[in-house]
Amino acid sequence: MKRLIDFGSSNDYEDEIREACGVFGISNQDGLDTARTVYFGLYALQHRGQESCGIAISNNGEITGYKGIGLVPEAFTEKILDRLVGDMAIGHTRYSTTGGSSVENCQPLIFTYKGGKMALAHNGNLVNASKIRFELENKGAIFQTSTDSEVIANLISRNGLKCGDLVEVLTRTMDVIEGSYALVILTRKTLVGIRDPWGMRPLCIGKIGKSYVLASENCAFDAIGAEFIRDVEPGEMIIIEGDTMRSIRTNYNKPRRFCIFEHIYFARPDSYIDGVSIYKSRLEAGRLLAIESPVDADLVVGVPDSGITAAIGYSRQSGIPYGEALIKNRYVGRTFIQPTQEIRERSVLIKLNALREEIEGKRIIIIDDSIVRGTTSYKIIQMLKNAGAREVHMRICSPPVLNPCYFGIDISSKEHLIAANYSIEEIRESINADSLAFLSVESLLKTPIGAPENGFCTGCFTGDYPMKVPAHIEKSILEKGC
Ligand code: SF4
Repeated sequence: MKRLIDFGSSNDYEDEIREACGVFGISNQDGLDTARTVYFGLYALQHRGQESCGIAISNNGEITGYKGIGLVPEAFTEKILDRLVGDMAIGHTRYSTTGGSSVENCQPLIFTYKGGKMALAHNGNLVNASKIRFELENKGAIFQTSTDSEVIANLISRNGLKCGDLVEVLTRTMDVIEGSYALVILTRKTLVGIRDPWGMRPLCIGKIGKSYVLASENCAFDAIGAEFIRDVEPGEMIIIEGDTMRSIRTNYNKPRRFCIFEHIYFARPDSYIDGVSIYKSRLEAGRLLAIESPVDADLVVGVPDSGITAAIGYSRQSGIPYGEALIKNRYVGRTFIQPTQEIRERSVLIKLNALREEIEGKRIIIIDDSIVRGTTSYKIIQMLKNAGAREVHMRICSPPVLNPCYFGIDISSKEHLIAANYSIEEIRESINADSLAFLSVESLLKTPIGAPENGFCTGCFTGDYPMKVPAHIEKSILEKGC
């Protein structure tokens, strides 16, 4: 069939929507190998960003670090980890859009302020970074990266000149920055965690022995044998010194608006965020999808990895058997993907293969987390049909993506969003599905089970963002953070 719509090729089937970033921090009071503990924490957060990573470590108040391009095990060797000695550290895994994946833009950023050296790792995106940067540059500030995270570092540095108290410095900085942020900050003797006033990005507190740890998701605590204590609250600042922790509740608490896409796609299914199991959210999305959009078929299949749990939910609700009909090559790292057109065209085939034995002659329901440009869906459906599927019905466990994200997730401008430009029937025809249906917004908001008081950002589906997005950012999403 000739495709009606051509939005170009996606670089990587998983990356139609790209990841956010992951942050981690530890105040080591138990004689642990600090660098390796951060390394394994970052390893568990690898799904949040695969372009680069880094560790900053404090050794008797002297902060040093290492940053590299690639996956955590690619960037860090035993030799490098041996060199990173100290008792407090933070780490970062990054996915970026603008600024590219150059080493200068990798995090943690290490900079000097009045109180000495400081390191900062950021997940999120500021919507007023270019305005602040413009003002700071007019006052003589020099920037070495193109990230919004350096704007935060610069503000901290300037506020440090005005006042010596760390909490006051950070509070003044939070007064100015707008957007989504989960920050871990390392000073000579203090580890700090901060979550933005809307709680858009995740950050939680754990403990191993007497050592406090901070991480984007609690799956990182499981990886190092730490217990989960609690989530950092929106607008909360956590100050960890040695084996003590205190909480500063700022005045910035806004209505909770956690990014609902973390539930659909980004977070790991074994994580809990704000009291909600990501796994259960995805099961529920599949269950509700089966109720809303039933179809007669022989087999339910999930697109690995984020479509699988919803596919199980759909199967349980519909009574149609679940099958593993798409096999993922788990050993393809980002470095394997070369930016040539030929490889881009083949990237889905390299990463996924269809299991003819499960598919041949069957009517398949294929469940995916989202459709952004539609290129991946088309290729997967072709793959299933080539393997002998009689019919392929696509079900999406989120609503149509109609708007860009300005808060750290790479959902680009409307012109690249297939659902913003075409009807569902046109999309169905374009991706060559026998039927196509999306989860409704009403059902999506019912999927995070167990925390009815939680509020969510649904901006990319509804246009209802937690804060006003400055017009110049709406025009060009230049201020991507991570
Ligand atoms: S716009 Fe979408 S992806 Fe961005 S923060 Fe809101 S829900 Fe998440």
